[in-house]
Amino acid sequence: MTIETTINIFYKYTPIAQPEHFREWLKGVCTALELRGRIIVASEGINGTLEGAAEAIAQFERTLHAQNGVPSTYGDFSDVWFKHSPGTGVAFPRLSVRVRPEIVTLRAPQKIDPNKVTGTHISADELHEMFENDEDFVIIDMRNDYEHRVGHFEKSVEPGTENFYELPEKLDNLAHLKDKKVVTVCTYGVRCEKASGLLKKNGFKDVSQLHGGIGTYMQKYPGKHFRGSLYVFDQRLREQFTDSYEVIAECARCGVKSEHIVNCANDLCHKQHLQCEACIEEVGAPFCNAQCAQQATQAEGTTVA
Ligand SMILES: [Zn+2]
Ligand SMILES: [Zn+2]
Repeated sequence: MTIETTINIFYKYTPIAQPEHFREWLKGVCTALELRGRIIVASEGINGTLEGAAEAIAQFERTLHAQNGVPSTYGDFSDVWFKHSPGTGVAFPRLSVRVRPEIVTLRAPQKIDPNKVTGTHISADELHEMFENDEDFVIIDMRNDYEHRVGHFEKSVEPGTENFYELPEKLDNLAHLKDKKVVTVCTYGVRCEKASGLLKKNGFKDVSQLHGGIGTYMQKYPGKHFRGSLYVFDQRLREQFTDSYEVIAECARCGVKSEHIVNCANDLCHKQHLQCEACIEEVGAPFCNAQCAQQATQAEGTTVA
């Protein structure tokens, strides 16, 4: 018998006085409920994805929301935002709860506190409405380039980042949008809280962010004004919300339509990229470019010699 599992995505920006202590407490709660996944705790808040039995996930949420046993010194989690997706049972191999300097790494020159400066939250309904009415706006996709390639909104531009923390130095790529109405989007919203704040601090005049992210929107409006699938950071790799979706991703090597996401086989690279099965078979391993293939072959030669 297979147990039905739920995947739970959550975050909140809230001051946490003792992240290390909170981490220990949180790990205990998750372990007792047999949850697997990844949680990042920082002095600025909490961000995580967990998979577990539906009832265990519900129990986890009740515990945080009711502050049930949460020592008040850890922070206020009574309104943590939760989002559910159907689980696969194998989305995560284990549980990892870590303390980091930020819950999403931006390394902005000035600290961005989304509780102080952030874009206006708009709902999936509002964004859908804006598309339907063909309003004058631009979507800024705050995800990484490979995520964007797997699927994205109409009217979207990307800053051209391989990692979110490159955003501060890539802002010039977006400078032409300072006077436009812009809506930032990301997978489930946590990156936009900071990214939209960064835009506002850098002179962007009309900044909104999609609350709950692309995942929330697609659950409600599958295939509407979004092409391709949603890249996700667990072993599912991507989420589809409708059977009749169009594959827009392309193999980095031969260009055929493919949603096959792999890590570069060059140990010095490991870049996540798209490569079709046929290309991998032809080359023998997935390399993101010819240079990586060459580098790996040379490294192998050295070891053999
Ligand atoms: Zn190919
Ligand atoms: Zn590579």
